[in-house]
Amino acid sequence: MTTTTTPANFAELGLIQPLLARLTELEYQQPTPIQAQVIPSVLAGRDLIAGANTGSGKTAAFALPLLEYVFTQKQSEKPSGKGNYVTGLILVPTRELAKQVSDSIKSYATHFNGAVKTVAVFGGVSANTQMLALRGGTDILVATPGRLLDLISSNAIKLDKVKTLVLDEADRMLSLGFTEELSALLGLLPKQKQTLLFSATFPEQVQTLTQELLIDPVEVQLQSTDASTLVQRVFTVNKGEKTALLAHLIHQHQWRQALIFVNAKNSCEHLADKLHKRGIIAEVFHGDKGQGARTRVLEAFKAGEIDVLIATDIAARGLDIEKLPVVINFDLPRSPSDYMHRIGRSGRAGEVGLALSLIDYEDYHHFKIIEKKNKIRLDREQVEGFEVDEAAAEAYLAASKPMAKPAGTGKKKRKKNAAGNSDYWL
Ligand code: AMP
Repeated sequence: MTTTTTPANFAELGLIQPLLARLTELEYQQPTPIQAQVIPSVLAGRDLIAGANTGSGKTAAFALPLLEYVFTQKQSEKPSGKGNYVTGLILVPTRELAKQVSDSIKSYATHFNGAVKTVAVFGGVSANTQMLALRGGTDILVATPGRLLDLISSNAIKLDKVKTLVLDEADRMLSLGFTEELSALLGLLPKQKQTLLFSATFPEQVQTLTQELLIDPVEVQLQSTDASTLVQRVFTVNKGEKTALLAHLIHQHQWRQALIFVNAKNSCEHLADKLHKRGIIAEVFHGDKGQGARTRVLEAFKAGEIDVLIATDIAARGLDIEKLPVVINFDLPRSPSDYMHRIGRSGRAGEVGLALSLIDYEDYHHFKIIEKKNKIRLDREQVEGFEVDEAAAEAYLAASKPMAKPAGTGKKKRKKNAAGNSDYWL
């Protein structure tokens, strides 16, 4: 682990004037801890593995030094004139993240006055437009793996000139379901390159794989508990009363906005209908919606035009919704790391945030696992008027074997879930 005192300003990190000028305009007064640790190492050309909370500023941590490298190279070298090159490749797990990251990069590059070209490619929209954008190559490419492989097979782009590879949300990148796409892409990249791995969580099994990708990496691990501004709470409730409790909380707290997570696409619609009957207007965001609708809903939520958004885990990763006051787990996420990703949508960039989980007694066991894996322990709270029927809870717990698998984890269902996850890659 690297320990550094946070420099007071970005100039001390070695960034060049056009970037510094933009950061001043964006009112980034000082580097976040991850930026302070990562930027000098990336500028020095080192491989790197970084674990940091979502909302910690990791996009700028890799984007700023990458932009600086590309810009200075272009100034000092004659243009290669080679058609479909890429210099910096950033792989991300979702379409929305691809757009968000490329928008940030374009914004940081404002004072390069068009000298650095950035393109985002992802599924769900026309490949032709992206092919046109890739004509003549691009300095920086932000991509989801599936669409990138498609574009490579139609010769729209080549990866043999890549100098820097960034894997954002690397745990998802390296997790099951992505292995094939990742190995196909890695095989097309030159051996000599800089590789940067960023993620909010690094499960142990991923560490082995990262060792194969990285050469003598700098390791950066920031503690999630330091000055955390995100408050986590858990409310127990009777089975069948979650919707009523949720509506009660929304009415009572009058949050400016709320992001509610459920586990299935159709649960989004069901919950929206049920809330509607209780006087709450909610929009939905999931993988069955067309890309146009997904983008519209997300932009409207980011702009504060939607108060309540009900989403599946496609909204859990990396999305930056400014000053989101609360995230609510209506369904618990299947995997403990997804819990961290979901709640990280609130309390970003030092803002105060709140993460609520509503658990009925069928969720008790699973929530304990989430706590254990994430090394947290929360008090079980009850809301007045929604007290748990202890006898019913005890009867349920006594009847269920402690290690019994929760419903829906059978072979058939697991297959379906794996396919369901594939909308990360579309
Ligand atoms: P990220 O973790 O990269 O998604 O960034 C989270 C949010 O923090 C984004 O809205 C960034 O614009 C913002 N941000 C990143 N770095 C800084 C900084 N040094 N000062 C202020 N805001 C920042």
